Amino acid sequence: MQRMVTALLTLTLASGLSTGCTKQRVGAEKAIASVLISDEQENQLGLQVKKELETKENIKYVEDPEVLAYVRGISQPILAQANKDRSGVKWKVNVINDPKTVNAFATPGGFLYVYTGLLLAADTEAELAGVMAHEAGHVVGRHSARAMVNAYGLQAITQVALGQNPGTAAQIAAQLAGGGLQLAHGRGEETEADEYGAKYAAASGFDPNGLITFFQKLQKEQGSTPGVLKWLSTHPTNEDRIAHLRKIIAQEGLKGDRNTAGGLTAIQAKLPKQ
Ligand code: ZN
Repeated sequence: MQRMVTALLTLTLASGLSTGCTKQRVGAEKAIASVLISDEQENQLGLQVKKELETKENIKYVEDPEVLAYVRGISQPILAQANKDRSGVKWKVNVINDPKTVNAFATPGGFLYVYTGLLLAADTEAELAGVMAHEAGHVVGRHSARAMVNAYGLQAITQVALGQNPGTAAQIAAQLAGGGLQLAHGRGEETEADEYGAKYAAASGFDPNGLITFFQKLQKEQGSTPGVLKWLSTHPTNEDRIAHLRKIIAQEGLKGDRNTAGGLTAIQAKLPKQ
């Protein structure tokens, strides 16, 4: 343990001395967060937030077993890939019944939430896979835990994990359900999650360009349906973002065959639209 702490401190110092090297900086941030919050604390934190989402934010889940099996089936290979980068995460995929909201988010502990509005907005399985893989990337990078520690402080977050700070847990849940602007990730973390997302989607057989076409579609729809595109508000999309994704896909030779609607169409037909 002592050796690990020393190594982490060295890493932090080294990164401080070499500003401008994004890779090292991201690595150091990751190391710091891993010292701040243990995997078990992350899991407990995720559980407390889930409880608040259900009681205070009145989140309703889809219970149709066919829909759940489909979304979990799309996610399963992606999450298996993600576990190669961060083992020990026990993923929990939840589908929120809210057809008017295009959103998805992840909380510490591997809790992934996707709204039916996003399932309805996706045109291909590759688009849905891209979003799930991107959100999984935030958990792998420990971005969600870090965002919460940064926003509320380590002490409050540790208390939430212990079930001893319902006020903060409620605030976190409200932010997540409301679009989570304050918990939005920085640009570096978004880039990292995009990279993980493209990698996991392709390794699971999905066309990694799905994330790109989904971003582009939300961008286009932004003017006509403001307010409901919550995922776009926490995932500002511009030419740089798209160009970086294209570059990573080309550089790493990422590809996948699944790029059609496939089974998604039948699932969309089953979802409540109101
Ligand atoms: Zn993101």
